[in-house]
Amino acid sequence: MKRKFLSKYIALIILCIMILSSCASRPAISESRVPENTSSALENSESSVQSSVISASENEDSSSSEVDSSSSQVETNENSSENTSTEEYTGDEWFLILANPWNKLPEGFQVKLTEIEYGYKFDERAAENIKQMLLDARKEGLSPMICSSYRSVKKQTELFNNQIQKYLNLGYSREDAEINAAKWVAIPGTSEHNTGLAADIVAVNYQLLDDSQENTKEQKWLMENCWKYGFILRYPKDKEEITGIHYEPWHYRYVGEKSAKEIFERKLCLEEYLEEIKEK
Ligand SMILES: [Zn+2]
Repeated sequence: MKRKFLSKYIALIILCIMILSSCASRPAISESRVPENTSSALENSESSVQSSVISASENEDSSSSEVDSSSSQVETNENSSENTSTEEYTGDEWFLILANPWNKLPEGFQVKLTEIEYGYKFDERAAENIKQMLLDARKEGLSPMICSSYRSVKKQTELFNNQIQKYLNLGYSREDAEINAAKWVAIPGTSEHNTGLAADIVAVNYQLLDDSQENTKEQKWLMENCWKYGFILRYPKDKEEITGIHYEPWHYRYVGEKSAKEIFERKLCLEEYLEEIKEK
């Protein structure tokens, strides 16, 4: 009796173990773990796809309207050429020359000029850049127009004196007239227009040099795209204390592609940028 009972009991236990082990192993393989792993793998791959989509669209935003492939090509060309020629800028490069109320151009400063269009002249080393920028803007159906580029110091003196006269006519003292004139027209020898690297560009449909210039389609395009050609909007609205010049939504300055990109992306002005690279 005891043996029969024992053997039945053992058979029952074995049967239970078999059933239990098949129950335990099934969900572990087919239901829970595999799908979990698959779904988490999917989630991971989705999130990485998503983040690469986001970063691609961010890039699109920063490089704006132009065709993706062409703008990234510009970037890689620029990077390869910039990186091979110079590792880091020191601020002494010809295209980073600083002319502002506190920095006169060196005595005997000379620049080789070439005509861009309609008699307007520019430093020949950056002439192609400004020509290409104007060409591309016109391809977009816009009508940018240069109204000033290189100016001799003599011409600058004339403009400066005219500006002083405007304030004198308004009843300002000589000293105040000079201080205020310098906010609009650079003191001769401190103007970027003397460098041959700056141009005032307006919309054909709106040629006034005032704040409303920023509302023209031409300025909107130029402000957004000028960095691709190595240009910056030199006198931004919120940097007047640093540049010493009133907001000028028409004055573009060539600083080289690499610097222009950084200045644009980080919303710096040239003075801030130069300060940083000199500290490095
Ligand atoms: Zn200007």
